[in-house]
Amino acid sequence: MARPPHRTAAILAIGDELAIGQKLDTNSQWIATRLLELGVVTCEHATVDDERPRIAFALERLAGLHDLVICTGGLGPTPDDLTRHALADAMHESLVEDPDAREAIERWFARRGRALRETNLVQALRPSSARCLDNEFGTAPGLAGRIGNADVFVLPGPPREMRPMFERFVEPAIRREPGRLVRTHVMQSVGLGESEVSARLGEMLARTSSPTVGLTASSGVVTVRIRYEGEEHGAQTEIDRVRERVRAQLGAHVFAEGEASLAEACLERLCERGERLLVVESCTGGMLGSALVDVPGSSDAFLGGCITYSNDMKADRVGVSRDDLDAPDIGAVSERVASQMARGAIERLGTGELHALAISGVAGPGGGSERKPVGTVCIAHAHRAASSAEPTVRAITLRITGDRTAVRRRSVQSALAMLHFALIDHPIPTLLWQRGSGGE
Ligand code: AMP
Ligand code: MG
Repeated sequence: MARPPHRTAAILAIGDELAIGQKLDTNSQWIATRLLELGVVTCEHATVDDERPRIAFALERLAGLHDLVICTGGLGPTPDDLTRHALADAMHESLVEDPDAREAIERWFARRGRALRETNLVQALRPSSARCLDNEFGTAPGLAGRIGNADVFVLPGPPREMRPMFERFVEPAIRREPGRLVRTHVMQSVGLGESEVSARLGEMLARTSSPTVGLTASSGVVTVRIRYEGEEHGAQTEIDRVRERVRAQLGAHVFAEGEASLAEACLERLCERGERLLVVESCTGGMLGSALVDVPGSSDAFLGGCITYSNDMKADRVGVSRDDLDAPDIGAVSERVASQMARGAIERLGTGELHALAISGVAGPGGGSERKPVGTVCIAHAHRAASSAEPTVRAITLRITGDRTAVRRRSVQSALAMLHFALIDHPIPTLLWQRGSGGE
């Protein structure tokens, strides 16, 4: 009788180093992404240390809940590699030596002129009804077996061994439901808080709606994830229907469809408009420039800029007024100085139609005052159109919470958000973190 399709999966990462947080589990993310492409939704990721009973218990539990369980790690030859023993426990079987696996291990050592130790032969053991999976890039074979109705695959921990084994053995073994598919679409927005996006999308976010819509937020960007599961026929129409509804609700706040960064989206728009960008950075010390240069092909629109960390540099390089820098009620962290930084860049560093972004703020942990606490950041955007000699300049002040890195990262995102709205000729929204807006 044909076995039913694999609909849901669980992924189990095994290793002391993962459980105690010394190493990041990258395998699970990779596997879940691949499974989704194959139409299988991963419902659970679990991580356990190298304790045999805990691994066995996790395997049994996950196999009772899902059609497919994929594990990685713990297949090495050392006493802390106990995954194969735990698999045998969970399958209620004993371990037997697999002659082909033994031969493959012996060949592997012989080819490299290395001595085979008795302990290496533990890697040729498998639960009696399980199958060994040939490892082309290491000594540990993988294992495939069944626990109840679930298919269980155990793959080696090192990603460069795990990935080819997944492609060779797990992918072809996946039973897809004919005509059924899972498709995802990502839309990214800026300038709205997560709860505001949630309120605007309303019942689209209900767990029962189809396609499903979920939100994640990071550094001021709210990502809308649309997931369609069902008949292949009509999948794109269904996704497009939701996309249009999201667009209608979020409008100009959507800066990209797909995983593009804010920097990438801004550069693309600059290229479309045939305009170029300069940056002048104080507290971010080059992070904004770096975020832009991270994008391949950024040279088409990004010219460069200055890091003007000291007051002298602000005055000498981009012509900020020394009086303003020294004035107790103005100072380096002010909309006035940020505006002069952006304007100065345009006037001194480039020609033609230009945009400039400037950032000046108190990143902390020291340097805060009652009027300008840590996290006060002023950002300015200047634009000189081809037709006019005089740039238009706008500035905003943010109060960002978090440590030095968070303040600097959020400053970069906010500056790019400001540019995003400028490039679509949209007024700067009252950003969540915005205290007031001024400019010249
Ligand atoms: P093992 O198969 O447990 O001997 O693991 C061998 C190597 O693979 C170690 O360097 C592990 O840290 C690495 N590794 C194991 N599991 C994972 C995982 N889930 N993600 C990334 N690396 C892993
Ligand atoms: Mg390990």
